[in-house]
Amino acid sequence: MSNAIDLKDRIAIVTGGAQGIGRAVVERFIASGARVAIFDRDTDLAVKTADELGRARVMPVTVDVTKLQAVEQGVAEVIAAFGKIDILVNNAGIAGPNMKLWEYPEDAWHQVMAINVDGPFFCCRAVAPHMIAKGYGRIVNVASIAGKEGNPNASAYSASKAAVIALTKSLGKELAEYDIAVNCVTPAAAKTAIFDQLSQQHIDYMLSKIPRGRFLAVEEAAATIAFAASADCSFTTGAVFDLSGGRATY
Ligand code: NAD
Repeated sequence: MSNAIDLKDRIAIVTGGAQGIGRAVVERFIASGARVAIFDRDTDLAVKTADELGRARVMPVTVDVTKLQAVEQGVAEVIAAFGKIDILVNNAGIAGPNMKLWEYPEDAWHQVMAINVDGPFFCCRAVAPHMIAKGYGRIVNVASIAGKEGNPNASAYSASKAAVIALTKSLGKELAEYDIAVNCVTPAAAKTAIFDQLSQQHIDYMLSKIPRGRFLAVEEAAATIAFAASADCSFTTGAVFDLSGGRATY
């Protein structure tokens, strides 16, 4: 008997899976036996990632998660291709600019909210009826330690990730009776393309808040997400798995 996380024959959707944490999740899932649909708005990168990881196990689907209709169409494509959906990882997200509250542009606020909050809500909404009918599902939302602690000069991002935590807790209760576990993770900073959106001052601030004294590795995030996405996560729901390297104070 193996003690490894078993995702054999599971079908997963990973939003924002073309790069960064999402790509590490895709790699971990296929290594554990799953097949994965990448929902990403960056078609070229999603296709490149799927080609690199192997089309037999990874399917790129162009989806902008801020559009409910596009999400529903993507979900229908996955069911047509693979026959079912067992796992949804809501990972797509943006940081938005690091700016003072009174300078923060209105359109940037709306964009952060659309991608980070509307996206997970629409994806959960689209897969839930299918998972309910099957009587099984695992949903993992990628929030952030900013959603628990609040980062300065990142008010929109922090608020959006707090919303993801509340969405997780709400759906954890609402979907529990169908054996659909809904949990989230709260990573600290990991060096990905999202860093391109951040000021050096903000990156230094985030590192100074990590008691581990280093950035999170994307593989470490993927390992926790893989557990929450597995059948072994059979009782826990509505939970917040801390990935802050010790920053969380509760
Ligand atoms: P990344 O920028 O490397 O990758 C994000 C991916 O999401 C990209 O492939 C992008 O094309 C995709 N995406 C963005 N908007 C989309 C949309 N509307 N529809 C579909 N796809 C979209 O980011 P990352 O660092 O890997 O972050 C992944 C998640 O982890 C995000 O939710 C982020 O907020 C969260 N997070 C990251 C860090 C970090 O320091 N990297 C820390 C805490 C939380």
